[in-house]
Amino acid sequence: MNDSLVPRQSSPNLSSTGAPAAERYDFFGVVQGYLREAAALVEMPAETLAILSQPKQEIIIHFPVRLDDGTVSMFKGYRIQHNNILGPYKGGLRYHAAVTLDDCKALASMMTWKCALMNLPLGGGKGGIKFDPRKFSQNELERITRRFIHALGSNIGPWHDIPAPDVGTNAQTMAWAMDTYVNTVGYLAHTSAKGVVTGKPLASGGTLGRPKATGQGLVHCIRYWAEEKGFALEGATVAIQGYGNVGSYSAALLSKLGVSMIAVGDHGGYLHSPEGFNPHKLHEHVRKNGSVLGYPSGEPITREQFFRIKCDIFVPAALENQIGVAEARALDTKLVAEGANGPCSPDGERILLERGIDILPDVLANSGGVTVSYYEWVQNNRSESWTLEEVDERLEVAMKRAYRKTMEMARQKNTTARIGAYCVALQLLMTVYAERQIWP
Ligand code: NAD
Repeated sequence: MNDSLVPRQSSPNLSSTGAPAAERYDFFGVVQGYLREAAALVEMPAETLAILSQPKQEIIIHFPVRLDDGTVSMFKGYRIQHNNILGPYKGGLRYHAAVTLDDCKALASMMTWKCALMNLPLGGGKGGIKFDPRKFSQNELERITRRFIHALGSNIGPWHDIPAPDVGTNAQTMAWAMDTYVNTVGYLAHTSAKGVVTGKPLASGGTLGRPKATGQGLVHCIRYWAEEKGFALEGATVAIQGYGNVGSYSAALLSKLGVSMIAVGDHGGYLHSPEGFNPHKLHEHVRKNGSVLGYPSGEPITREQFFRIKCDIFVPAALENQIGVAEARALDTKLVAEGANGPCSPDGERILLERGIDILPDVLANSGGVTVSYYEWVQNNRSESWTLEEVDERLEVAMKRAYRKTMEMARQKNTTARIGAYCVALQLLMTVYAERQIWP
């Protein structure tokens, strides 16, 4: 149990001083713990639990890439295919120095629960490359992406496993990935396989509404929570950790509801502004400079000060294991809305709940991303282009349904919202296993 407010890391060997980081956070073990707890509540048969406790496939690839200076560097990539009983594996590709096999296993399992909760005909996958993309040029990032996708070969595909953006990747990464796949897997795929990845740029087969989708889904959940509690969002305050895709869109969409972002931080540092930041100007600054650091308004603060700032809503939108014991004791907020996957450790969650702070759990709160990715995949497969209104309307219906089912289940089973969301997902999965049984 780590109870100091120092930066929390999910993997060893990350310290900038070269010293090994503190004890490794067992993210996959944490997700397996939630699975066991929910499985007991829904009385899941032991054999189904055994199947869902491990991924079906774990792919590790070492591959060489020539860098701009002419030297060759080796990279390590992962693709975890957790479960495909509901449909093709689906989940992000993460580029980060802390990517590990076990973290991908945790994230891939969560994708299985997320797709089941959202009633999508998709399974759970996740992958990534263990490197810091900030240290590489655009040309190098393109070669790294293309070489990895080529190495994955037919391990991915629009009817098999469909990657998407995650930490350190974006629509451009997906355009390179799609282009590499369709050019290397065979002539027929050239025109018909755009759906091999989602989160693509619009002109390359993406969908309207995907860039904001995860933030939009999160903000819908915050709205439903506020309605339930009779809490007025107009005039409320939010602090956001992580100002990438999820953090920046959440800030912009919350500001439309009158919620002011008074604190923000990322890998570069943390800022505080009692009068609130302009989300769009800050986003532009991050786009140009790579971090919130150096933004001309607001006061720089430490990570410790950031976690102590009084706010109505706290949105973790960076990495797992950011809210441990010390952070949970320090947070002065009403709601933690999990934009990131796994941001609360189990001890952190216990303390937040004991202190009366509500949590909108990741599996529900950030599922808008995979839901709109599913809409993109459907459009690709049908050669259609939906309007933004159509995407937005479908997403809102899907989020409302999942929110209602999660909270009803949590009340019915007298458990947390997180375990409630797991229970909804597991009930669907165990029904399908009971119907299909084990082949042969
Ligand atoms: P991103 O790469 O766009 O942004 C990540 C942000 O986290 C950046 O601001 C980065 O500076 C910050 N960060 C990285 N390391 C940090 C550290 N040690 N301390 C503080 N901040 C740090 O990634 P994203 O797509 O916005 O993903 C953020 C989280 O949301 C991840 O947990 C991801 O799995 C989850 N998520 C993303 C999507 C999606 O559609 N992109 C969907 C569901 C869940």
